[in-house]
Amino acid sequence: MDTTPSRSSPARLGTGHSTRLDPYVDRYAARTAGMTASEIRALFAVASRPEVVSLAGGMPNISGLPLDVVSNAIASLVRDQGAVAMQYGSGQGLPKLREQITDVMRLEGIEAHPDDVVVTVGSQQAVDLVTRVFCDPGDVVICEAPSYVGALGVFKSYQCEVVHAEMDASGLVPEALRQAIAAVQAAGKRVKFLYTIPNFHNPAGVTLSAPRRAEILEICRQADILILEDNPYGLLGFDSEPHRALRADSADHVIYLGSFSKTFAPGFRVGWALAPHTVREKLVLAQESATLCPPQFSQMAVSAYLAQHDWQGQIKQFREMYRERRDAMVSALADMMPGACRWNVPDGGFYVWLMLPPGVDAKKMLPRAVTARVAYVPGTAFFADGFGAGSMRLSYCYPTPERIREGVRRLAGVVEAELEVRTTFGAHLAAPELNGSNDAPGVDLT
Ligand code: PMP
Repeated sequence: MDTTPSRSSPARLGTGHSTRLDPYVDRYAARTAGMTASEIRALFAVASRPEVVSLAGGMPNISGLPLDVVSNAIASLVRDQGAVAMQYGSGQGLPKLREQITDVMRLEGIEAHPDDVVVTVGSQQAVDLVTRVFCDPGDVVICEAPSYVGALGVFKSYQCEVVHAEMDASGLVPEALRQAIAAVQAAGKRVKFLYTIPNFHNPAGVTLSAPRRAEILEICRQADILILEDNPYGLLGFDSEPHRALRADSADHVIYLGSFSKTFAPGFRVGWALAPHTVREKLVLAQESATLCPPQFSQMAVSAYLAQHDWQGQIKQFREMYRERRDAMVSALADMMPGACRWNVPDGGFYVWLMLPPGVDAKKMLPRAVTARVAYVPGTAFFADGFGAGSMRLSYCYPTPERIREGVRRLAGVVEAELEVRTTFGAHLAAPELNGSNDAPGVDLT
């Protein structure tokens, strides 16, 4: 069959497909129109050079993990249970691990039965499965403004409409949620669920206050809206006991997502969903059609780690390490950023959200920042509707405190220069060219 594209073959316009010659362009499913490469991919390829301080990626810093403990656990797993560990497993996930997961969730006030847990390939797959189970094209998902870029990508790929609801320093604003629900209903559409990250938000760094937790639950209960509670950072708080999960106070209206990526290691790709019983059945069917089963080997490795190691002590060490990095970032920002910048001081997690002085555009400024050897993620990446130009996400999880300080110093210089240019010329400098490839491997979408 000749797949050579002819000049007369119909070209699809406005689908978001690659502009390179693609012989398959007229065959892709409509849903692929939402699967677009991030506009900042090319910049990330450059940002991953060693001379650049990357405050962009959200990679967990796992250098403190006890590799001897992990390698011993994996060696004995292969030696003693290899034939099971390397076999297919159950679509719902390993019963022993599901039981251990209920112990983890108990730290946030959740009493759950292992039967209601579905193990997934990271919590990212859980977002995908929940969306697959609930959303038809055009269905509405309400998300915080801003929201996690990886979840927005899932919602787009299932052709959902994302409606944003505002946050402030205490997390999602209840009145904004009420208004978003009313606006969707007035348009004759159905909200399929509220997607929320209540703790140490990615990217906003804020945490939903206790009184608001009750209020958000009540609003969703009254409107009969399901909540998708995504909580990969919940055990990484710096100052407090873990916050009580929304799911702890509502077993029927909340699907809770957890992950071992930040509390252990992301390479195992083990996360989970805890769902009301009937939903759990659908999720298992969706999981079976997606992967047959989550990887047995990874699950057994995570299970052995939890059984043989002081995992809570390890999380405490992670928290201390991240707290030191948070402190380095906020003190560097206070010392060096131009006065008109604003940012929050997160109580946990990986991220600071920074608002630039009025008129400064984070995306337009990024090439200049990368030239100055510092990278961040422009705020627009975290909105489905093009908002966020005046803001950026800064991650402190990965670089050392010294590198964080140096990165902020470079960033402050770039913002200063931007302000000076605006004062002098009232316009942007032409952005420098960067030779990144749009197909760069290892792009960090976390
Ligand atoms: N949800 C949020 C809010 C995240 O920040 C991430 C990753 N950074 C994920 C889900 C996915 O994590 P994983 O698939 O590694 O569990």
